[in-house]
Parts: sequence; structure tokens; C-alpha cells
Amino acid sequence: MSKKILILGAGYAGIQTALVLQKKKKKQDDIEISIIDKNPYHTLLTELHEVAGNRISEDGVIVPLKDIFKYTDVKIIQDNISRIDFNGNKLISDEREYKYDYLVIALGSEPNYYGIPGMEENCFPLWSLKDAIAIREHIKECFRKAANTNDPLVRRKLLTFVIGGGGFTGVEMAGELAQWKKLLCKEYGIPQNEPEIILVEALPRILSALKESNSKKAMNYLVKKLNVKVLLNSAITSLTPDEVQLKDMKPISTNTLIWTAGVKADGLSEILDISKGKAGRIEVNEYTQTQYENVYSVGDVSAFNAGGKTLPALVESALQTGEAAALNILASIRKQEKKKLEPKLRGVMVSIGSFFAVSDIMSVQYPRLISIMLKYFVNMHYLFGIGGFELVLKYLRHEFFEKRQEKFLIEKHYSVKTQAFWLVPIRIFLGYAWLTEGINKIKENWLVEPLLAGAQLDGNTSASVTETGEKVFRIVSDHTPSWYAWIAENIVVPNAMFFQVLIVLAEIGLGLAFITGTFTFLAGIAALGLNINFILSTGLYSYNCWFIPAAMCMLGGAGRAFGVDYYLIPYLMRQWRYFVRNRRINLFATIK
Ligand SMILES: Cc1cc2nc3c(=O)[nH]c(=O)nc-3n(C[C@H](O)[C@H](O)[C@H](O)COP(=O)(O)OP(=O)(O)OC[C@H]3O[C@@H](n4cnc5c(N)ncnc54)[C@H](O)[C@@H]3O)c2cc1C
Repeated sequence: MSKKILILGAGYAGIQTALVLQKKKKKQDDIEISIIDKNPYHTLLTELHEVAGNRISEDGVIVPLKDIFKYTDVKIIQDNISRIDFNGNKLISDEREYKYDYLVIALGSEPNYYGIPGMEENCFPLWSLKDAIAIREHIKECFRKAANTNDPLVRRKLLTFVIGGGGFTGVEMAGELAQWKKLLCKEYGIPQNEPEIILVEALPRILSALKESNSKKAMNYLVKKLNVKVLLNSAITSLTPDEVQLKDMKPISTNTLIWTAGVKADGLSEILDISKGKAGRIEVNEYTQTQYENVYSVGDVSAFNAGGKTLPALVESALQTGEAAALNILASIRKQEKKKLEPKLRGVMVSIGSFFAVSDIMSVQYPRLISIMLKYFVNMHYLFGIGGFELVLKYLRHEFFEKRQEKFLIEKHYSVKTQAFWLVPIRIFLGYAWLTEGINKIKENWLVEPLLAGAQLDGNTSASVTETGEKVFRIVSDHTPSWYAWIAENIVVPNAMFFQVLIVLAEIGLGLAFITGTFTFLAGIAALGLNINFILSTGLYSYNCWFIPAAMCMLGGAGRAFGVDYYLIPYLMRQWRYFVRNRRINLFATIK
């Protein structure tokens, strides 16, 4: 009988467990993998502030589970689990029970209100997609109401936004809101200096998990560039719908407190009959195994002891514990020795709006631009791992082309969209021109006799006949750079036939690619490369200089309308996903 492995929670840790199991399993393991989540999608929690601050739409932070697990044997179950019977080996929801041989608890975490009076009832937590949307809509509503009230005290309260907690999430949220504020003020006709954003931190500095210099950089940017007021050494003691009370300070009159300061294990873990440590996190050994031999716990909900400290609630911890659980379950099924997890955390990046970030990676602090790029790169790397090119493209689309916040001048222009349909005439015409170039070269005997020649010895570079009257095609001219001339004289001319055939084939290939709209993006790049090559050798001719801007037009999906790419690119992406998940090709793989 096959062994049933159930993974409870499709967050970072649960998904990693399932994907590693899928990748490493062998036929003889005879396992069934199922992943259960209350939602049909995976939420990219690390990007929630971008939805709350209206930088991207909610679609940008969710990934349907069916997209992640297509072409795998992982079964997806959507259900809200309310109990676990560890002795009977089953998960229980309101409607069903699920038996398991091995269980991986990957329930994640939830906000910790530390018993602060009024906090849970009145704050806006930032812990789920629903929370992020609620914050976004509430902020819009505050601006709308403020613009319509004549009462200065009510207006002030509506336009005061307090963020509790100066950790990663709080700082990212403050940055996002400060950036969005500019647009909101314009939209509702409110002076830019009127809304106030206050970040409250109980410790003496923000981002206390990072090096002090990074805290200072972040603080400077928030205060000086974004006009965020930062209150350090300030503990929130209670909250009402109208007021935040602070220890030893004047209360703040506000309708908005976004709470990001505390984290504890997911609520379900509280009622589980299992050993727990600090913040309700489930105790596990070095194999990520709980007190029950066949039950593992990973990610935020588990308390993995790394050198005397509990592994922090971070994505890296979730991925590494998830992978360890998968490998150790397989080891257990194969009756092999299990492997201890030795976590290696590389570091974090914190973005403050879309134009600033700090990073601390392997104890190195990178400059602003590199930190911003690293954050994008890490997200793309993660998305590529769980969903391939499609997810990366979707991410880039949301971040750069469909950004909702204020845009730089260049961003404003490159994010304007057009129908690929309008590129079809220029694509076909460009294809026809390349094809004609190739055919003309065949007629000029390019495939029959060597014609490429270097500079004429008397310096008359433009002449197309040699001293003995033979017809040639000179690839070194007056303006050819010396390095290019050297390559032409020493590599190309001695192997003229090879390069002639290559050029003819390339030109005909480009022609056909553009006409049919096949691999249009790659053809556009190749065409630009060939044009640069021609400019370096013979210079730019007026009759074909338009090839260059036309090739650039081909980079924007010109083959997707009335072209083969419309079918080919999605097909190839499916093939790639199938290959990555199964290590083999299936030419007829379709979407499940
Ligand atoms: C706003 C925010 C910003 C963050 N920023 C960063 C950052 O920049 N860098 C970083 O490293 N970390 C960051 N983190 C922390 C990081 O997101 C977590 O460490 C990570 O999500 C943990 O992964 P996980 O799989 O344990 O839990 P989660 O990703 O939370 O997944 C838990 C899953 O369990 C499911 N679930 C819960 N209860 C049930 C139930 N009863 N039945 C069925 N399904 C259930 C949930 O729906 C969810 O899909 C951030 C967290 C938040 C909230």
C-alpha cells in the first residue's frame, strides 16, 4: 500500500516540502503526496505591503496552487482543518477527515497582540491577502472622508496613520504608504503635508535585526525623504477606534493603526496536543520531527533550534525546514539514515517604497541600487522555482508595467500598453526585407564562391573589385574600428565561405521568423546583433537603417498576434514546467 504524505499549509514551507518530495521521489518509494490549504492559492506574504500600499493589485501576490503543482503527482485539497488526531493519524475539518502515514504541519503564523487592550479588536493586522486589501480600502476611505469633512479634528484623525512595529513589515508598510500618499493627496485635493504617517517602535532603533548602519540609512530615508515620523522607545499600551495610547507619551488621535509588531504560531497549533515552545511554535528535533515520529513541522509554526536560538520566522527558514522534512520523510520510508538540518540563513532585504532598499546578506551591506535589484532577483528566483517563466513574467508585469503608484518619467512611458496586433504589418514587412537580403546574396553567389574581403591595400576601402578585377564584398571600411578590422582580416576573410553561408542562412531565417511570427523576440535580438555587426563593418546604409528600430519593435511580443508565437511560447513554457517537475519530456503535456 502506498504511503500517504499530507502537508498541512501551502505557504513557503509546505510548498517547498511538496516540491522536494515530488522531485526526489522514486517509483519504488510508492508515495501519495497531498497538500491541504484553506485557500486555493499560495500567498506571497513578503509582498503584502505592496498590495496594502496600492503599488500592485492583489493578483500580484497570489499564485494558484494548481499552477504550482501542474505536471506533478501532488494532490491539492482545499479545506480548513480544525483538528488533528495524532493517535488516529488523521486531520479533521468540519466536513471531512484525511488519513495520513506522514504529516507535515506547515500552518505558518499569525499576529501576536501581546494582550494589549483593544489591539485585536481595533487594529489592522498585515498578515494575509484579506488584511492587505482591508488596509488599502480603509486608507482610501480615510482620504475620501477627510476630503468631505469640515471638522478639522476629524480630518486630522482620518489623515493620521500609525504603524505599530519598526521591523521589516512595519518599515516596508510605512515606505509604501508614504509613497502612495502623494497620489492620494493629488486625487482627493489634500495638501501633501497634511497626512501624517507615524511609525512606532518599542526598541531604541528600527530594523533591529539588521546592522546599525542599515537601521540608520532606513531611518534617514523614512524621516528625511518620505516625511515619516518615527517614534523610538515607544510602546503601545492600548488602542481604541479613535486613539493609540503610548507609554509615557501623549496619545495619538487616529482611526488607523496597522499592526506588524508581533508574530506567533498559527491559531490551530494552540489547540493541538503537541509540545510547544515560545510563541506557541511546535517543538521539533534536528530532523524537523515533532514528538510524534511520523509528524514533522516546518516554517513559522515550528520552533527549530539553531545553535540555542529558535530559527527566525523568515522565508529562508521556511524553505530550509520544508526541504529537510521532505528529505527525512523519504529517508524514513526508504529506511535510510535521516539527515540533520544545519540551517544557513543568508540575510534579508528590506524595501522602503520602490526606490529604496537596504540589505544585509552574509554580513555584507549592499548599496541602495544593488539592494533594490537583489530584492527583485530573490523574488524572481523563488517564483521561477515554484512556477517557472510564467510566474516571473507575471511578477515583472505587476512590478513594472502595471505599477499603480507614482511612476518615474521613464516608467510612465514604458508602462503604456499597445495591442500586439498593430505590430503585425511592420513585422511582416521586416521579415520580407530580411528574406530579400538573403535571397539577393544567394543570387550574388554568396553560397558558391568566397566574396568577403578586407580593406584594399591601396586604402580604397569602398571598391568592390580587387586589383585583378574580381568582384568582392569588402567588410572593412574607413570607419571600421581597429579591433573589428583585425577580426575581419584574420578570422572572417580566411574563412569567408563559412561566414557567407552563416549570414545567408541567418538572413533567410530572420525573414521567415518575422513573417511567421516564430520566436519573434529572439529573432529581434538576433536582428539587432546582425545590424550592429554590419554597422561596424560596412557602416549604415540609408536604405536599410530602418531595420534597427523595426527590430526593436519586435521585442514587445509582436509574434503573439497573427503569429506562431501565440501557440508556440505557451507550449514551450508548458514543456519546460513538465521537464522541471518530472525530469523527462512529454510532447503532449497539457494543462491539468
Ligand atoms: C507582511 C509580511 C511581510 C514579510 N516579509 C518578509 C521578508 O521580507 N522576508 C522574509 O524572509 N520573511 C518575511 N515575512 C515572513 C514570511 O512570510 C514567513 O516566514 C513565511 O511566510 C513562513 O512560511 P510558512 O510556510 O511557515 O507559512 P505561511 O506562508 O504563512 O503559510 C501557511 C499556510 O497555511 C495555511 N493554513 C493556516 N491555517 C490553516 C488551516 N487551519 N487549514 C488549512 N490551511 C491553513 C495558510 O492558508 C497558509 O497558506 C513576512 C511576513 C509577513 C506577514
